[in-house]
Amino acid sequence: MKKILLLHTGGTIAMHEDEQTGTVGPSVSNPLYSTIESLSKIASVIVDDFLHLPSPHITPQHMLELSKRIERRIKTEYFEGVVITHGTDTLEETAYLLDLLLDTDVPVVVTGAMRSSNELGADGPYNLISSVRTAASDAAHGKGVLVVLNDEIHTAKNVTKTHTSNIATFQSPQYGPIGIVTRRDVDFHHVPSKRERYDVSTLTKNIVLIKCYAGMDPSLLDAILTTSMDGLVIEAFGQGNVPPGIVPGLEKLIKHHIPIVLVSRSFGGIVQDTYSYSGGGRHLKELGIIFTNGLNGQKARIKLMIALEVTSDRNKLQELFLT
Ligand code: ASP
Repeated sequence: MKKILLLHTGGTIAMHEDEQTGTVGPSVSNPLYSTIESLSKIASVIVDDFLHLPSPHITPQHMLELSKRIERRIKTEYFEGVVITHGTDTLEETAYLLDLLLDTDVPVVVTGAMRSSNELGADGPYNLISSVRTAASDAAHGKGVLVVLNDEIHTAKNVTKTHTSNIATFQSPQYGPIGIVTRRDVDFHHVPSKRERYDVSTLTKNIVLIKCYAGMDPSLLDAILTTSMDGLVIEAFGQGNVPPGIVPGLEKLIKHHIPIVLVSRSFGGIVQDTYSYSGGGRHLKELGIIFTNGLNGQKARIKLMIALEVTSDRNKLQELFLT
C-alpha cells in the first residue's frame, strides 16, 4: 500500500449545515475523519490537520507554509502521494502556487466539496476517496499538482471554479480535464506539456488585481498608485484591450517601474497585441505591459508574486509569462 499524506486546511468539505438556520460553518471535529476506514482500504493514510479555515481566509502566506510543510514531510517521511482538502473558493490559487513551488514528482492532489458534510448529496467523502486513489496511482507521478473533484482530474494551471454551487464547478476551459476517475481506474488521457518551477522561499510582494469594465473610472489607477504595490494584474477586455481613460494611469505605473501583467476577463483564449487603437493590445504592448498566455487573473497574480521574488527585469518577466 502507498503511504499518503492527507493534509486538511478546512473549507466546506470540513463544514456542516445548521438545520435551524440553513447556514454552513466549520464543524468542531473534522467530519472527514469518518472516511478514514474507507481510505485505509486504498492506502496507508497519515492525517495532518494543518489548518481549519474557510478558503476566503487563506492567504498566500498560508499557501507558502503549506508548500514548505509538504516538501519537508515528503523528504523526511517518504510519502508517496499527498492529498490536500481545501475550500473551493480559493482552491485554484493554492493549487497553482503549490504547482509553481513544489520540487517533487510525488503526486499532489487538491480537493474540496460543494456540499457540506451533512447535506443531502454531500460530495466531500467521494471527492476525498477519488483524490486518494489518484494520489496513490503510479500514473499521477510527475504530472504536477492536480485538482480532483467530481470524477475529473485537472491541472492546477488550467482549472478554475466556474459555478457557485454546482458540484461540476471545476473546469479547465479550453483544455478540459487530463484524466478521469472511474469505479475501477484512474485514467489519464493527456500529459501536461510543460512544467514550471521556482525556487522561492519567501513571498514579500504586494500584487493588486483589477478588472476592466465599460466606463471605468480612471482615478482608480491613481488610488492604486498611493498603495504600497509592487505589481499589477489587469483583467482586460477580450483579446487584451482596456478603456483609453486608464492608459495615463498605466503609463504612470510603468514610469514608477511597477510591472503590469495583462490577462483577459474572457474565459478562453489568450491576450494578443491585435488592436492598435488607444488602449488596444498593440498600444499596451508598446507601453511595456507584460502579456500572458491563458492564465486567469487570480493565477497571474500568484505567478507575479512568485516571479518578482526571482527577477524584476521586465523582459525576463515577459519571458516567464509566456511559458
Ligand atoms: N466558501 C467555501 C470555502 O471556500 C466554499 C467551499 O469550500 O466549497 O471555504
